[in-house]
Amino acid sequence: MQTKLLINGQFVAGEGAPLDILNPATGAVIGQVAEASEAQVDSAVRAADAAFDGWSQTAPKDRALLLLRLADRIEEHAEELARLESDNCGKPYAAALNDEIPAIADVFRFFAGACRVLPGSAAGEYLPGFTSMIRRDPVGVVASIAPWNYPLMMAAWKLGPALAAGNCVVLKPSEQTPLTALRVAEFIAELFPAGVVNLVFGRGPSVGAPLVSHDLVRMVSLTGSVGTGKAIIRSAAESVKRLHMELGGKAPVIVFDDADLEDVIAGIRTFGFYNAGQDCTAACRIYAGKKVYDNFVADLASAVSSLKTGLQNDPNTELGPLITAAQRDRVSGFVERAKASPHIQIATGGKMVSGKGFFYEPTVVANAQQDDEIVRREVFGPVVSVTPFSDADEAVRWANDSDYGLASSVWTKDVGRASRVAARLQYGCTWVNTHFMLCSEMPHGGFKQSGYGKDLSMYGLEDYTVARHIMFKH
Ligand code: NAD
Repeated sequence: MQTKLLINGQFVAGEGAPLDILNPATGAVIGQVAEASEAQVDSAVRAADAAFDGWSQTAPKDRALLLLRLADRIEEHAEELARLESDNCGKPYAAALNDEIPAIADVFRFFAGACRVLPGSAAGEYLPGFTSMIRRDPVGVVASIAPWNYPLMMAAWKLGPALAAGNCVVLKPSEQTPLTALRVAEFIAELFPAGVVNLVFGRGPSVGAPLVSHDLVRMVSLTGSVGTGKAIIRSAAESVKRLHMELGGKAPVIVFDDADLEDVIAGIRTFGFYNAGQDCTAACRIYAGKKVYDNFVADLASAVSSLKTGLQNDPNTELGPLITAAQRDRVSGFVERAKASPHIQIATGGKMVSGKGFFYEPTVVANAQQDDEIVRREVFGPVVSVTPFSDADEAVRWANDSDYGLASSVWTKDVGRASRVAARLQYGCTWVNTHFMLCSEMPHGGFKQSGYGKDLSMYGLEDYTVARHIMFKH
């Protein structure tokens, strides 16, 4: 197991506190990684800053080639990386191998191509005797802070566009889930010039905070909770850094009476509970039309109760544990408080799973009301709520009545209604008759407290650049 930090092309042991790395499915310690000291964070940022002039001036085709090679390395080590990710996150090995690794390789390949055709815009003579052109240039040193739910995928979403655009990066994976990033750092060190990518490890207060507030960091990219986002926004105000914030979500799922209920139930069974619901786009806040509500809740409860929780290697496992005992207790707290409301029914689940590991039963909370905590706050676990609605206006009003604005879905056979409702939803993404599907070409990101900035797509690449005007006097 690779446990060293990558600073200026060298692997060095962290000089800070050693932290236990757990397997959440058993609670067992599977390794120890030492945090970076503040001096090491400083060295990593300085190395990135020193590498910037060279790296930013490389031709896009040369940066692209290295990103393509990195994608190849990741694919060549797919099984090893999927094993590390699944051991460290508790997620089913097959999901890590078949869903995540191909998507991770594809992100690097997409940005490898994208940086070669970054769209130009106006160029010409806009004042007599002068020629203007617009360039899109890299920002400088980017501090990239990743969460624990999809550790390597989130690192790829950050590294891909930042490096393609010509930035240098200091990446900090989550203190819970560093293992895949630490391993991929070895491929990076073989392929990329020293200092272009640096990896520091540690907790938010001890390592994240000094990293994001470093004077030489020009941009901070975070995928994490709203609370962390706000802390980083406050700290970035001091030196006016650029920010890219992918924060939480509480995706509304509007199920009209005419929807294909079998499809909806299969969809929510998958997209509400994938990664044990630890997903910012999870299909978790369901609004169901009154005519179908009773049948819908009964069928959904039965489908959800058939989800198999278990260990990573069991090919029948559909659902792993929560990432930590604290996260499992947090999820349980939401459900216990919901149970205390007389109108709430727990249609299935609603308990911790006894034994080792941080498992929670897949849960459907029925008859939830718009003002209930379970409808308003992000649970980030295998729990969905269902609320009956009367008409489209009410469904749209409730769907938009949220602090979050990341993802949403509409389920109906009526294309006109789907289009009208999708147009009114205040979410970065609206899926129609599906949920959760992502591709590298399409932007992912929210508004409101879900943050700002886009991952993936040409918009993601642009976010890691600055538009500049160059003018020539004739
Ligand atoms: P978190 O906010 O606790 O931690 C995220 C990262 O921020 C970690 O690496 C952590 O060490 C770091 N951090 C914490 N405090 C910091 C500080 N003061 N300065 C710098 N870094 C700091 O989030 P998490 O619990 O790891 O992840 C779950 C959250 O992430 C959920 O809220 C989820 O919705 C969100 N998320 C959002 C998206 C998206 O695309 N919008 C994707 C995945 C997860």
